[in-house]
Amino acid sequence: MSNTKGGKRANGRRPNLADPVDGRVLVTEADRTGSPDAEYDPEYASMVGAQLAMLGEDPAREGLRRTPVRVARAMRWLTRGYELDVERVVGGAVFASESENMVMVRDIDLYSLCEHHMLPFFGKVHVAYIPDKHIVGLSKLPRIVEVFARRLQVQERLTEEIARAIEAVLKPKGVGVVVEASHLCMMMRGVEKQNSKTITSALRGIFRSDARTRDEFLRLAHNGSAATR
Ligand code: ZN
Repeated sequence: MSNTKGGKRANGRRPNLADPVDGRVLVTEADRTGSPDAEYDPEYASMVGAQLAMLGEDPAREGLRRTPVRVARAMRWLTRGYELDVERVVGGAVFASESENMVMVRDIDLYSLCEHHMLPFFGKVHVAYIPDKHIVGLSKLPRIVEVFARRLQVQERLTEEIARAIEAVLKPKGVGVVVEASHLCMMMRGVEKQNSKTITSALRGIFRSDARTRDEFLRLAHNGSAATR
């Protein structure tokens, strides 16, 4: 998916009282009201019910009765990045500044889903930029990460999309992004060493052209993570 603008899902249907499993009403009043993240797609839930049966399970047994609804709701939350876009997330939080010093936010929590297996990958994101007359509210950097992480992703593209978004919002002298993540699709399937981490980086502007800036950024990114292990 390269839906970087977000805002529209392919499937924007509202939930209703459809039964995903066996004709009985599984959606309670509490499911339908309350917080927006309680919404889910009944068709998605019914697909999960079919999936349970294909796995050899009995979707009607007690412990699984509400699983299709729970999964549908969880997946909606875990992919809510499709409904977010960077401009909206940043809002008006771009400010004039004469500073030309590196701004860095380290250890931003990352939770995403790999697009090949729909299994989680998770870790840390380190983001830095060198301002050119503008800075952004620090809390906005983790929120920009969310926009792209809460979708089906590959780590390489995620890293690049975060860098590109910061570049578009701030027009800074340079941007650096490092992502270090563990992929459950590798760990659970025993494809690679259980504790291996995948590290990706995206460097733009002065982070690419100036060795000193790049080295400072990479040292800050990697030293810090070594210290917290
Ligand atoms: Zn995977």
